[in-house]
Amino acid sequence: MLDVDFFRRWMAAAAAAVDREADRLTELDSAIGDADHGSNMQRGFAAVTAVLEKEDPRTPGAVLMLAGRQLISTVGGASGPLYGTLLRRTGKALGDAPAVTDQQLAEAFAAGVAAVGQLGGAQAGDKTMLDALLPGVEALGTSYAAAREAAEAGATATVPMQARKGRASYLGERSIGHQDPGATSSALLIATLAESYE
Ligand code: ADP
Ligand code: MG
Ligand code: MG
Repeated sequence: MLDVDFFRRWMAAAAAAVDREADRLTELDSAIGDADHGSNMQRGFAAVTAVLEKEDPRTPGAVLMLAGRQLISTVGGASGPLYGTLLRRTGKALGDAPAVTDQQLAEAFAAGVAAVGQLGGAQAGDKTMLDALLPGVEALGTSYAAAREAAEAGATATVPMQARKGRASYLGERSIGHQDPGATSSALLIATLAESYE
């Protein structure tokens, strides 16, 4: 069973990964966006770390809902509301159980990813975070390691895509040939989920 500590570990690992990879995320965003994705994610997850220390959520669902709310209120730009919705909706779907099963997490995360699609109106192949999240969540039914691999492959697969949503879509064909920053950070989020499970 996955308890509150597991979800706290996941959020801490995500914050550390975002710190470590911030320069790379910003560099990717400088090619097809406005060069702020690394700092957006860093600011957001630093705030998540702070609020999880200050408040003491007692259930997995409460951890993710709090984290999601914090991302929405601290990260401007497209990624804040989208990641915030992902975590909030996943947390909401987990309900108020003190611990959840792998399958419950997989189902809840699928609901979270679906909510990202609804909010942003993007689909698979639009060169967004969904291109890592969708294959990741699909493989989550198999194993955490498979989800990680699928999300990383999904992020890499955004390189030849033309962006159809978000800031990168303004570039039209010039968005081709660069990896999507949001798909890259989504792969990090799923990789840290796998790490927390090991
Ligand atoms: P901004 O573009 O506002 O500066 P960020 O740089 O933090 O925000 O995040 C950009 C990322 O957000 C993109 O790389 C993409 O993955 C994701 N994104 C943008 N718009 C959408 C959307 N409509 N649906 C899903 N993801 C999106
Ligand atoms: Mg940006
Ligand atoms: Mg921006």
